[in-house]
Amino acid sequence: MQLSGLISKMHTSLSMGTAQYQLPIGDKLLNMNDLIGETIQLEFNGQINCANCGKTTNKSYSQGYCYPCCQKLARCDLCIMKPETCHHHLGTCREPSWGLDNCFTPHVIYLANSSGVKVGITRKSNIPNRWIDQGAVSALPILEVDTRLKSGMIEVALKDFVNDKTNWRKMLKNEIEVIDLKQVRDELLPKVQLLANELGAKTLN
Ligand SMILES: [Zn+2]
Ligand SMILES: [Zn+2]
Repeated sequence: MQLSGLISKMHTSLSMGTAQYQLPIGDKLLNMNDLIGETIQLEFNGQINCANCGKTTNKSYSQGYCYPCCQKLARCDLCIMKPETCHHHLGTCREPSWGLDNCFTPHVIYLANSSGVKVGITRKSNIPNRWIDQGAVSALPILEVDTRLKSGMIEVALKDFVNDKTNWRKMLKNEIEVIDLKQVRDELLPKVQLLANELGAKTLN
């Protein structure tokens, strides 16, 4: 089988406890789970199209955008990587209404095991896709807040005690220990309880 066309971020879903990955190639969706254990070959023909405007670009910025889009889209701003720096309240969000729709919605702070335990945040509506994107073998939502900014503030506080990065080499080698995330949560929560209360966070069970 040979396919060619533009590729973009894999679609993910959970089917009876198994993570499913599909790679868009042109107008086709390739079921990646079917290829586990098979040999595949990828060839890059040098063409990059912006994930927003579709124009060709020599270089990809912010994982898939042309330079002008990367400068103008709120989703490419630094505050997406560092949610604790959300500046919507200052009136400087690049796309205030996109910000309202995406950052002022319920967000969840979670623990996941992808290459060891890590803390992360995501929009509540993006569960479990966020974890499948990251290749986590298990995950546990621990707190819920009503904005991205608040989730970032709690994540920063938790980073003093737990990693926030995935070691992808380790993850790909599947060198993953079993971790009792509930036990980790019970150890961590008291350390950020004051902040969580202050931000009106809901403890998730
Ligand atoms: Zn563009
Ligand atoms: Zn923002």
